[in-house]
Amino acid sequence: MHILLASNNGHKREELAALLKGVELELPSDLGIDFDCDETGTTFLENSMLKARSLFYLVGGRHAVLADDSGLLVDSLPGELGIHTARFGSPDGIQLLTAEQKNRLLIKRLEGLDRRAHFVCCLTLMVSENEIYTIQRAVNGSISTHLEGSGGFGYDPVFVIDGYNVTMATLGTEVKNRIGHRALASRAMLAVINEIEKDGGDRA
Ligand code: IMP
Repeated sequence: MHILLASNNGHKREELAALLKGVELELPSDLGIDFDCDETGTTFLENSMLKARSLFYLVGGRHAVLADDSGLLVDSLPGELGIHTARFGSPDGIQLLTAEQKNRLLIKRLEGLDRRAHFVCCLTLMVSENEIYTIQRAVNGSISTHLEGSGGFGYDPVFVIDGYNVTMATLGTEVKNRIGHRALASRAMLAVINEIEKDGGDRA
């Protein structure tokens, strides 16, 4: 299946392409499409649906579209990350901090606090106006006391998944793509995609 990813994030494309084996995944920019979506939802699910619908209609329904809305929940900082994860530490939400700045700020904000955290990934596949699949999965972990590792992206240098004692960035791509939040959601989505392909054109 050929799918257009409702994102401009090359890291997400790289991870999803490795996870969704057999799927040809393109970014809007690969097709010369300028894609930007106002994430006005109040949940990962709403934002994932918004992104999928927005790109689906932008391309006139000519491509199946996949959206990934993900983020970090930190128990001691309720409401601060979650769907606002990309804007953490940026009061105006426009001038965003770099990933390293966000990670350093997070470590500082958690000094003396509980460090429990969860990574969520919500994938929405829109095949047609009346055929939409959404899968949300999460992994539990904690925020480390220092940045560590060079793999992955975003908050991977500070997120320690339960059962491991190093960050996701240290574990590296092979492990992240087995046990991470995006890996869990993608495995379920790949089963859906395989089922759709098995059905062939037999759909409304
Ligand atoms: P969005 O889903 O593109 O809005 O991204 C939300 C935020 O979560 C961004 O700051 C990303 O860098 C971060 N993020 C999403 N997925 C991951 C991941 O797999 N590892 C680390 N950070 C991530």
